Amino acid sequence: MDRLLASVQFLKGIGPKRSKQLNRLGVETVFDLLWLIPRSYFNRGNLTRISGLKSANTVNIRAVVQAVQANRSRRGMQIFKALLNDGSGQVTAVWFNQPFLKNIITPGKELFISGRVNNSYGKIEINVSEYEIMDKSSLDCKILPVYPLTEGLNQNLLRSLMLSTLQGYLPFYPEILNEELRRQYELCDIYTAFRNIHFPSGREGYLQARKRLALEELLLFQISLCLEEKLPQDAANCKVHQEKNDLVIRVMNNLPFQLTDGQTKAINEIYHDMGSPSNMNRLLQGDVGSGKTVVAALAMAKAVASGFQAAIMAPTEILAEQHFNSINNLFKGTEIVTARLTGGTSTAERRMILEATERGEINIVVGTHALIQETVKFSDLGLVVIDEQHRFGVRQRAMLTEKGTMPDILVMTATPIPRTLALTVYGKLDLSIIDELPPGRKPVITRYIKQSARKQAYNFIHKEVRKQMQVYVVCPLVEESENQDLQAAVSLYEELRDNIFPDIKVGLLHGRMKSAEKGYIMNLFKKGIIQILVTTTVIEVGVDVPNASIMVIEHAERFGLSQLHQLRGRVGRGKQQAYCLLIGNPHTEEALKRLQVMESTCDGFKLAQEDLLIRGPGDFWGVRQHGLHQLKVADLTRDHKIIELSRQLVLRIKPIENLKNYVKLKFNKSDKIAPN
Ligand code: ADP
Ligand code: MG
Repeated sequence: MDRLLASVQFLKGIGPKRSKQLNRLGVETVFDLLWLIPRSYFNRGNLTRISGLKSANTVNIRAVVQAVQANRSRRGMQIFKALLNDGSGQVTAVWFNQPFLKNIITPGKELFISGRVNNSYGKIEINVSEYEIMDKSSLDCKILPVYPLTEGLNQNLLRSLMLSTLQGYLPFYPEILNEELRRQYELCDIYTAFRNIHFPSGREGYLQARKRLALEELLLFQISLCLEEKLPQDAANCKVHQEKNDLVIRVMNNLPFQLTDGQTKAINEIYHDMGSPSNMNRLLQGDVGSGKTVVAALAMAKAVASGFQAAIMAPTEILAEQHFNSINNLFKGTEIVTARLTGGTSTAERRMILEATERGEINIVVGTHALIQETVKFSDLGLVVIDEQHRFGVRQRAMLTEKGTMPDILVMTATPIPRTLALTVYGKLDLSIIDELPPGRKPVITRYIKQSARKQAYNFIHKEVRKQMQVYVVCPLVEESENQDLQAAVSLYEELRDNIFPDIKVGLLHGRMKSAEKGYIMNLFKKGIIQILVTTTVIEVGVDVPNASIMVIEHAERFGLSQLHQLRGRVGRGKQQAYCLLIGNPHTEEALKRLQVMESTCDGFKLAQEDLLIRGPGDFWGVRQHGLHQLKVADLTRDHKIIELSRQLVLRIKPIENLKNYVKLKFNKSDKIAPN
């Protein structure tokens, strides 16, 4: 048995209770524990004497508690103060909202604190950011790790646990880079790296450790991709799409609009791949509204004309339904047979579709996750299209692909992923970009409106609806529970229907409705019978109703930039001027900034860059879906060099027996996507 894979429960001093606490931090095995990276460090060096404190500095102090006091501020904040003395003088240290402190910080205790000196009405205080109570178990090092905590755990406990784990288990950690490579790229060995990330010898040691572990993570990550995405490159079995009739030309002549140059270029690239005797693995990237669906449809037409079947998978039922309709429109008058398969398909219909698909009588199947169920079989699947691929896990993509013998693959996304990252995330993948919107689109005018001023928004909606325009009202996102999401949507719906817009037809659409009901409501909205649609994030991706011109987002401060952008992308699809009203009460600087950025640009790429500045590698890049959020050390926005290096080195690492298991531990924990 590999010792690193042992459960933490079997470590000395860790019983079932502690082990549960560690589980809550994502630590189940010794391997996980080693990868529990400190969130910061506490430097006990550079002590400042209390007599020499200066306002606005960050200082470290070692002193004895003389008195304590716990208060509640008028605004309900819990304030804990301790009077400290280090022999040179006295100062008050302040903590906010940590009521449990009064039980552990008591007069007579010796403390290390780190914090900022604050001059409050002439009285000097320290706002504590880190503290440590010195006792027998305190470690005698200068730089101490500060770990993420959960209830019941404290720093001292984790620190000593880590020390003993480093001693007892680190020697069993496999080194995957040989000495020559380490020398060539100036990397420390994995043992030094782990020791220094937890207990740095100094700044240099820390930086070395960080570099090596960032690289290590990226290497493991790429191995995880290879494991999941077996790419059997057997040229003899590759699909070569050669059209046997004029179907594609007929479909092209039938298009209701002229393709943009960006679309034409993408189609040419796709057709080229499909016609060649190697596998297509192509990512089609284009901002929301750039017209990716028609490109996918034309790719599928080529597959059908060449005698193969095609499948397109979308993340929500509503979107699958819409694709089904628009694809049928585009193929009207041709011999192409399509079918739709979602969670809501009735049993009888489902059976018919499955049989006909297996016999090859259906050319194109449009569906949701329902497509990857075992019972779905194709006669000869030649092309797989994944829409909004950032909503799917790698595994789900592979499962659909495995339904054919090496079908060509087209994945589509509005996510403006930078090239290096795309290469890392997708491995061998070619990129097509639609870099323009269809002609005549006007940027969506976006305004942030304070909660208190929502009446303005309602007046405006009244005016627009009178001009036959349609409106989405998207309800707040409640992270903890879908039920609350639903409640919020229902009560807003009732309020709008009964009190605000009694003269307008208001509808409600949410994820918990039955498929048929969803389809029905969506259809009423498409036809303009419902004028205001109150909904949740079920309409976030893909939905296309060109006559809808106003998007109202309630509690806009709760959404990330990429979600706001996707939601806004639901309007501005017709010729008329569209508006996006962000109703919100941002409590943080960051939230306000997001809304302001939304006001300032409609360009997805610019937004992604802003997102990056505001909060690091954001949800724009589908980071979570790829398990990339499991990266604890590597920083996707800054570590370009290390990412590059990992791409070179991944082919040169030592084969290690258990690597597979480690990789699974690190990256495959959360490959589940909430169904919509
Ligand atoms: P997305 O890239 O976000 O998936 P869609 O495929 O849903 O975009 O297309 C958005 C809208 O633009 C649809 O209503 C589609 O019919 C329309 N559209 C697509 N291509 C063109 C074009 N070349 N000219 C005009 N309208 C187009
Ligand atoms: Mg789309």
